Amino acid sequence: MRTVYIDPKLCANCLSCRVQEECSKYAVIREEPSDKPWIDSYKCSGCGDCAGMCEYHAAVVEG
Ligand code: SF4
Ligand code: SF4
Repeated sequence: MRTVYIDPKLCANCLSCRVQEECSKYAVIREEPSDKPWIDSYKCSGCGDCAGMCEYHAAVVEG
């Protein structure tokens, strides 16, 4: 099983998050617009598509 997460140290907290916009499972959560996004492991399918989506390489896919 893959581990997928957004590394808060790498995330630049963009105004609009490309990973959130493009994840087909709507697994990227941002409760407040000012919050850094995170990935809900219950919604994430582990597809790995987000690995190349973030220009800051904050979307990490392991495994
Ligand atoms: S995960 Fe990437 S695209 Fe999304 S807010 Fe963070 S830096 Fe921006
Ligand atoms: S691995 Fe796939 S389902 Fe999970 S957050 Fe990335 S794009 Fe979405």
